[in-house]
Amino acid sequence: MIIADAFVQQYETLCTAAPNSALFLGVGDASSLELGNSACLLIRNGLPWLLIDCGHDTLRRFAEVFSNRLPEHIFITHLHYDHVGGLEQLYFKAALAGKSVRLYVPVSLVTQLCAMLRYTKLAEEKTDVWQTFILHPVSEYFWHQGLKVWTYSVRHHAPNSAFSLHLPGVMFYSGDTRPIPELLSHVAAKNEIIFHDCAVTGNPSHSGIDDLLREYSSDLLGRLCVYHYHSESDRAHFERAGLRYARALSAIKLR
Ligand SMILES: [Zn+2]
Repeated sequence: MIIADAFVQQYETLCTAAPNSALFLGVGDASSLELGNSACLLIRNGLPWLLIDCGHDTLRRFAEVFSNRLPEHIFITHLHYDHVGGLEQLYFKAALAGKSVRLYVPVSLVTQLCAMLRYTKLAEEKTDVWQTFILHPVSEYFWHQGLKVWTYSVRHHAPNSAFSLHLPGVMFYSGDTRPIPELLSHVAAKNEIIFHDCAVTGNPSHSGIDDLLREYSSDLLGRLCVYHYHSESDRAHFERAGLRYARALSAIKLR
């Protein structure tokens, strides 16, 4: 009971301090056990609103903050396992609890996601994963609880295999990507905070500090908050470059 009360207190403190916020559950890259799989919960009016991605450790981290609750609405940016590796676990937990979870999935990812979850089922029940997961295919945008949320293809492996999320005037979440100046300069023009993939050194799949400094204007750089990095020691490099960075379980206020 003491532990549960502590969790509830943590949740209430967090939501009172920042009723509209972004709470990263993890900020790490695929190999960072220390920082957790990158996943971000958007909180509105003090309540969990939309979770972005569900990696291997996302449910455990969500439960630690939100008193053993499960996420109810998830947007999937792409199908690498550090971003969807927790879905099978979520299915079993939700199905056994008689709950449903809405999955917003870019339409070009639907076929492959169905293939990945094809054999996910409770053996003794005459049911399948799509009785628990409410699949919501997304084209350019979707409506979530009265707000219009946009998504755009980004630069991470094959074309149309990874997507960003955008609440105009509130926030832009890049998902895993190389720099996308052509996209950000066109769509993120309302002074939104921009959560952006960034490691100390870039590679063909992800952005690095030098990439961002080279590709983005000072206005865009000033609005970035980077995530998807490898270790705590990377933060000193971000600080030297003048880049703001996200930490796990530290709420970032949104408008
Ligand atoms: Zn990825």
